[in-house]
Amino acid sequence: MQEEPKGLLIRPIRDGTVIDHITHGEALVVLRILGITGSTDERLSIATNVETRIRGTGGLKDIVKVSNRELSKEEVDRIALIAPNATINIIRDYNVVEKIGVEIPRHLRGIIRCTNLGCISNANEPIESAFEVTANGLRCLYCDTVINSDFAQHII
Ligand SMILES: [Zn+2]
Repeated sequence: MQEEPKGLLIRPIRDGTVIDHITHGEALVVLRILGITGSTDERLSIATNVETRIRGTGGLKDIVKVSNRELSKEEVDRIALIAPNATINIIRDYNVVEKIGVEIPRHLRGIIRCTNLGCISNANEPIESAFEVTANGLRCLYCDTVINSDFAQHII
């Protein structure tokens, strides 16, 4: 049996960002984090449930390519929460000029909404949400509420 040609699944892009090794099933959440909807005009390629040999992934990953856009640190931090194995490749003139592994920062400001409706960060005050990343989950610095699952649901 002939082997599938490598690298042809989605076309290379000239300038932009390739987000690789996204937890499979999370590609659409990544698009939501980047504010990309059906009506925005980025040129996108999305591949879901692509085979990967990386351990601990269930053998599958998603890939998102966005032309003419480089990501901000805040966007990378949000992606880290839902896709901790993701790698972000900045492409210029078809070359990878930077490869960034995502890392969940120790503190998250303005990125996650507190699940406690009575929390001061949910009141109509000019206060940004603030969480500390702990071994048990994300702890709200205002009310001590801990969020330990479904981070994607709570991303602002
Ligand atoms: Zn809170």
